[in-house]
Amino acid sequence: MRKTLYIIGLSFFVFSCTSQKNVKQNASRTNKQVVQPKTPVAKTPSEKPKPQITHEGGVDFFTTNIADATKNNNTVSYGSIVSAKPAGYKVVKTYFPAVGQNFRQRYLILHYTALPDDKSVAVLTQQEVSAHYLVNNTGDNEIYQLVDENKRAYHAGVSSWRSDKNLNDTSIGIEIVNAGFRTDSAKTRVFAAFSDDQIKKVAALAKDIITRYQIPATNVLAHSDIAATRKQDPGPLFPWKKLYDEYQIGMWYDEAAKQTFLTQAQTDFTTRYSEPAFIFMIQTALQKFGYGLELTGAWDDSTKKTIEAFQYHFRPEKYDGIMDAETWAILQALNQKYPIK
Ligand SMILES: [Zn+2]
Repeated sequence: MRKTLYIIGLSFFVFSCTSQKNVKQNASRTNKQVVQPKTPVAKTPSEKPKPQITHEGGVDFFTTNIADATKNNNTVSYGSIVSAKPAGYKVVKTYFPAVGQNFRQRYLILHYTALPDDKSVAVLTQQEVSAHYLVNNTGDNEIYQLVDENKRAYHAGVSSWRSDKNLNDTSIGIEIVNAGFRTDSAKTRVFAAFSDDQIKKVAALAKDIITRYQIPATNVLAHSDIAATRKQDPGPLFPWKKLYDEYQIGMWYDEAAKQTFLTQAQTDFTTRYSEPAFIFMIQTALQKFGYGLELTGAWDDSTKKTIEAFQYHFRPEKYDGIMDAETWAILQALNQKYPIK
């Protein structure tokens, strides 16, 4: 039955395309003066208004959303509309914008530069790494844009989150000027703090990007989340909780849920700590949350680095890469709050 419907549907589609083509051909044969209609040929009751184009600074922008913005399948364009200019022909942008489109920008990734202001600019503009935005630490109100939002910047490298890979393709990258970390005599990483002014800038910029592209909370991430075995930035001093509490940016767990999971975890966490099945369960939970790691049933190096990355983001008081009852409780509370849809 489904197959029959599909074939009927397909025939109708082919027929519609052919008939529309014939109409156009006939029109051009019989009357050369026929002007192309300015509205779509087949009007339906559900037809959305034709999007307007704004011309600004020699560049065109769509400004009207004709689709369902909540499904991220809309036609609003926040960069220039880039069109072909074929010699002798006119490319028309306003007649038939397709509802079936979405934004390429589905992730927001935060970094620190591990360099001072001047060197950050030099490296991110003159070398093979880049980001869409650079948030300086000079106390002014400027944010530098280095790459057009519609283009790829080279900030993520080899990366993954949930089922997505190579996040340069689908993300906006923000670099924040910060010294990064030094390693002390006990081989602990000691991170540099961010100034309040910088965090306010990052929050305002992130909020603007997230709102425009409707980036879900689960896709607002640290570089260390998407490349856990290689990266530490923006590190444990980046105030994710403050961004969540004060600006509704990104993910954070609910305290009550964490307490419930902590009470459960404390009953057998220590006794089960070395059991392969228990480690496997925790690795599965990390993978389910989004991290790209292998399920080995052992506390291996990549699992430790993944736990460390998780702690940088969600348990910044302790980032030694060792799973404890509290980290485990936080991970479960997050998986409960942000399930894969
Ligand atoms: Zn980075």
